Amino acid sequence: MSRFDVVEQGPPIEVFQLMKLFAEDTFKDKVNLSVGAYRDEKGKPWVLPVVRKVEKKMAEDETLLHEYLPVLGLEQFSNASVSMLLGQDNPVIAQGRAFGVQTLSGTGGLRVGAELLNKHLKYTTFYYSSPTWENHHLVFMNSGFTTPKVYRYWDPNTRAIDFDGMIEDLSNAPENAVIILHACAHNPTGIDPTREQWIKIADVMEQRKLFPFFDSAYQGFASGDLDNDAWAVRYFVQRGFELVCAQSYAKNFGLYNERVGNLSIVVNSAARVAPLKSQLTWIVRGMYSNPPAHGARVVATALSDDKLFDEWRDHIKMMSSRVMEMRQALRQELINLGTPGNWDHIVKQIGLFSYTGLTQQQSEYLVSNYHIYLLKCGRINICGLNRDNVKYVAAAIHDAVTKIHDPRARL
Ligand code: PMP
Repeated sequence: MSRFDVVEQGPPIEVFQLMKLFAEDTFKDKVNLSVGAYRDEKGKPWVLPVVRKVEKKMAEDETLLHEYLPVLGLEQFSNASVSMLLGQDNPVIAQGRAFGVQTLSGTGGLRVGAELLNKHLKYTTFYYSSPTWENHHLVFMNSGFTTPKVYRYWDPNTRAIDFDGMIEDLSNAPENAVIILHACAHNPTGIDPTREQWIKIADVMEQRKLFPFFDSAYQGFASGDLDNDAWAVRYFVQRGFELVCAQSYAKNFGLYNERVGNLSIVVNSAARVAPLKSQLTWIVRGMYSNPPAHGARVVATALSDDKLFDEWRDHIKMMSSRVMEMRQALRQELINLGTPGNWDHIVKQIGLFSYTGLTQQQSEYLVSNYHIYLLKCGRINICGLNRDNVKYVAAAIHDAVTKIHDPRARL
């Protein structure tokens, strides 16, 4: 007998379960297309050279101590993050209407932001895209939101955004509903709204008095250009929205396990900043008291030095170009094999992922027969591909698609 007998086994988290199965798999040609992490052309994790360089300097810098950071984190880091998101010349910065809070990566930013909106603005309804990153639901519910809703996003027939559906759903949202918007490189579909579509989204959100909560986990990964990838957020700011945005440096700095993130907040009046900071301080205090320093120091150093910043931008370009190259390679291999269906979406989608259109059955077939690990929704991490394994993966997809014909699959 135990007090804890009441605790039942919960379900596994799909992506972590797949990572574990992959690590345990002894098959020589196994391929990991599951977790959204960058891999180099040899299929290995990549520590960005600029990160190594900064870390080496830090290791010798005896002025760096292990004292607590302030509750809201390293200010140099959060200021640099706000500038990276909004552009350093954005007037809201000079007007003192934008500020940042260091958070435990993007997830922590979502959590702190959601708790602020729920606790202090009493917002209870949130909308996320169908589909979205699976954690949005849980994070918002754990932050006190009570009414989860979805807005249509992906149309499997056209393999594009169901834009009319999205607009209709947003038009029916109640005032003060929080709308989670992927700033760029939508996960899992790899399809972002066009600029014209963003303008219409902003129109509806303004009319309906909805609150934009941007999730920016891939700045730089969509187009290879940091400014381009922040266009939607900057546009909303320019339109006069008050908003929050959770930023993650997991992918673009390769700092996955350092949990480096930022919550940027833009408000209409500089006078709101001090009370907001004080309440955010209490939110963080009650959750984890204060954030870790290492990753934030690395990012702050790289963002604040012109030479290091340029080096980092080159790394991002390199990573995003390799992803694009692998998209082309996979599509080409499928065409060469005569795999039934149209595979243009693989190259039209952006960011790390491709929403392949493979069904759950086909995806599971790839895992069990070919040791190719992907989510059952058919999402693949493109940078798990390289010149050595792309033929193998394409042949396996070909086999899955020809063998498991599912009339619902529109390939
Ligand atoms: N949002 C989205 C859309 C993501 O894909 C991710 C990472 N998978 C995150 C947020 C947060 O990631 P992290 O907490 O590792 O920064």
